Amino acid sequence: MTLTVLGCSGSYPGPGQAASGYLVRSDTTSIWLDAGSGTLANLQRHIDPAALDAVVITHEHPDHWVDLTGYYVACKYYLNRLTVAVLAPAGLRERAYYSDAPLVWDTIADGHRREIGDISLTFSRTDHPPETLAVRLDAGGRSLGYSADSGPGWPLEALGPGLDLALCEATYLEDMEGRGQHMSARQAGVSARAAGAGRLVLTHLQPGTDRQVSRAEGAAAFGGDVEVAEENAVYEL
Ligand SMILES: [Zn+2]
Ligand SMILES: [Zn+2]
Repeated sequence: MTLTVLGCSGSYPGPGQAASGYLVRSDTTSIWLDAGSGTLANLQRHIDPAALDAVVITHEHPDHWVDLTGYYVACKYYLNRLTVAVLAPAGLRERAYYSDAPLVWDTIADGHRREIGDISLTFSRTDHPPETLAVRLDAGGRSLGYSADSGPGWPLEALGPGLDLALCEATYLEDMEGRGQHMSARQAGVSARAAGAGRLVLTHLQPGTDRQVSRAEGAAAFGGDVEVAEENAVYEL
């Protein structure tokens, strides 16, 4: 399995930086996971957009889904896709600018499981309004956990044991903890350590955050080196 970062700017795009989005690929399956602004553009650097198997949206905050509108236009008028599976919590379909075919909606909720090709997905409701779903993706004996957005009231442990890589939001530095329903790099480190994650990649940093400070605070809490997500970086699991 590979994880490609299409965008990782937290809450809104930074200068030259897309909002949240990732491409998860196994040998046979490709999933676009969150579709923040700028991620459709970056997606096309890595894959033919007509070849995606599904789009998974974690919640209805715009920094996680607005490029679904552009993808709808591309699929409907240019890519000849008759159906596109969109897995999302209940709230998004009403909010989405386009919701008709070729989009085929699958409403997901806490505890739900889905199989897309050879990737298994398991969802867990996080500490973040509105309904937000973290996701565990398993393929080929490897496991990726993605926190989506969450405050510290939800633990990565909720995704189960044996995560090879935890992709965890770390919007804040330690001195900003508690400003909203998001985690700091320190809190992400604490959560990943408790979950026994093999690797920790911090993401969703607020634009302007000092990446080195975030990495250091995360590493101290995790008890080992951590990485800070970078646009277009590819992580092998
Ligand atoms: Zn967000
Ligand atoms: Zn959010």
